[in-house]
Formats: sequence, structure tokens, C-alpha cells
Amino acid sequence: MLDIRYELSSKLKDKPKDESKLGFGNIFTDHIFIMNYDTGKGWHDARIVPFGDISLSPAAMCLHYGQEIFEGLKAYRTKDGSIQLFRPDENFKRMNVSNERMVIPQVNEQDCLDGLMALLNVEKDWVPHTEGASLYIRPFIISTDPYVGVRPADHYLFIIILSPSGAYYSTGLNPVKIYVESRYVRAVRGGTGFAKTAANYAISLKGQDEAHKQDYEQVLWLDGVEQKYVEEVGSMNIFFVIDGKIVTPALTGSVLPGITRKSAIEVCKKRGYEVEERRISIEEVAKAYDDGKLDEVFGTGTAAVISPVGHLKWNDKIMTINDNKIGPVSQMLYDTMTGIQWGTIPDEFGWVVPLTEVRE
Ligand SMILES: *Cc1c(COP(=O)(O)O)cnc(C)c1O
Repeated sequence: MLDIRYELSSKLKDKPKDESKLGFGNIFTDHIFIMNYDTGKGWHDARIVPFGDISLSPAAMCLHYGQEIFEGLKAYRTKDGSIQLFRPDENFKRMNVSNERMVIPQVNEQDCLDGLMALLNVEKDWVPHTEGASLYIRPFIISTDPYVGVRPADHYLFIIILSPSGAYYSTGLNPVKIYVESRYVRAVRGGTGFAKTAANYAISLKGQDEAHKQDYEQVLWLDGVEQKYVEEVGSMNIFFVIDGKIVTPALTGSVLPGITRKSAIEVCKKRGYEVEERRISIEEVAKAYDDGKLDEVFGTGTAAVISPVGHLKWNDKIMTINDNKIGPVSQMLYDTMTGIQWGTIPDEFGWVVPLTEVRE
């Protein structure tokens, strides 16, 4: 069992009064979980301390060469007031996959989960009470050695911050407008696309900016070699329903293996849909659209869960999908996943992990 030191804040912040006005990622709770890593010593000094600025050397390696990884998951409050997580073990498993790629030391997945549970016990009251709102959890690791040279670091910080959040998209479950990026790329095979690392986001800002200028909300990335095959959306995996069949890009190394993606595939298979994980070109999508066979397009990710796509713009071609309305597969997935997450339907998959009591 992880030994945790508590240094609790004596001055707590006011909780947000109107949960319907919660945005995403801009309010933080009173405490964080933090632990250090030093080569030779391993991870140590796990503690829960007040939320506040951290001090870093201006030469800290993460600031110069981006050796960083992160995760994202949520805590949900059920109708009876209890708090639960959705497949948190998958997040810490993926964290170690990202660590491996970024030459960051492995974490003990159970210790991370224990640390998260302990932090959630302290911050329980921050988990929103309205359905649709949740407590977003952001664990991350940064390299901290004061050294301006390129090598894997010897010192790291593992931190978890918490942020009460409303619906991710301002438009709610209304379909989003997506712009197919055919100039810039996000990832290449052999690169870091499958790792949850800051670099993948830094590289995508330019395309995102371009999409926003054209009044599109998100970017759909094509493969980095031929710019032919569909990969994923900014922070979501992408699915197409073509002629009744569900198609999603295979995990070829440049696509982030989303836990929502994996769960959506399992739900669809269990509901009797045919699901294909394979390479799919943007031409195939456009052809399906022209043939009247592109039934639905949707994104999957922790933040938005299921996000129907209403418009897809690829060069000069604008595809309006399912009359810009949410389709039956997207709706079924949304209802099933959010139902399990907020505990309004039985968890037939065994995905939910209740908050365990941790004594300080
Ligand atoms: C986190 C992330 C996703 C979605 O993963 P989930 O585990 O479903 O939240 C998809 N794409 C990218 C680039 C991501 O960083």
C-alpha cells in the first residue's frame, strides 16, 4: 500500500454554484497528488498538498524538450451520491505505454490508482451532482532536471490535478463540424502518435487554428505519409457507420488507443453490430457519402464521450451527415456509455470502479 503524506489546505475554495455553467478545464480543486522520481531511488514521497504553483528551474528539461506524458479520466457521481470511475486501470496501463515511448520511468499502476483514490477521498465534495457534469482527472509526468541538453532525465514529478467540468462541447450533443486537414500532419508511424504526450498536441495547434478560422470545431487528421487514410480527430478517435457497418481506423501506431474507442467497440459488438478496425481512406468516406451510404460519423473520447459529426469538410467537399442530427448508433453508444458512467443503467461490462474509502 502506498504511503501518503497529507498536508491539507486550511482555506478551501468555494465550490462552483451553478453546475450547468461549468466549462471544461478551467476550475481546479483544493489539493493535488504529487510524487517524485530520482534515478536510483525510484518513485517516492507521495503526498497530497494544496493546489498551487510549483517551482521549477528555468532549465527544467520538460520546458525545453517536452519530455512529458499525461492521462485523462473522470469521476462520476451516481444518483445515490456515490462516486465511481470508468476503467481507471486502463489509464494507468496506457500511462506506462506512453512512459516507455518517452523514456520516462515506469510507474506502479496500483500506486497511481491508490494515490488517485486518496486524492478523491479528500476532494469528494468537488465531484459535481448534476448528470452530465463530472470531475475531470488529469494525471501527468514531467521531467525536472535543470539541464539544457538532450537526454532522458533523472528526475521527474508525477502529479494529479482535478477539475470539475460540464459538458465538453459548448454545443452539447449537437453534431460538431469537422475539418479534414490535408496540409499538416499530427503523427507518423514510428513517431509518438500512440503515446499521450504534449508533443502530439503542440504539433496539432496549427491545423486546429486553421479549422477555427474556417468556423470548424475540430480537425480530422489523415495519415502522415500519404495523407490518404483517416487517423483521428484532435482528442477523439473517429468512427464511421457505412451501410450499417461500423468502421474505425486500426491502431497502426500513429493513432491514440482511446479507452472510449475500445469500450465503444465492445458495446457495438455486444449489441450485434459488425465492427471493422482497418485502414479507411478519406476517399472511401467521400464515396460512401456520394453513394448515400455514410449513415453516421462520430468521435469518441473521455471528455465528450460520444460526439456526433454533422459536417465534414475535405478540401472543397462539404459532407452533411445524417441531416446534421445524431444518428441511432451514436445515440445508443452515448446512452449506454453515459448510463454506465453515471450509474443509471447496470454495468454489464464490469467497467465501473467505485471510489474506495481511504483513511488519512
Ligand atoms: C486521449 C485521446 C483520445 C481519447 O482517448 P480516451 O481514452 O477515449 O479518452 C483520442 N485521441 C487523442 C489524441 C487523445 O489524446
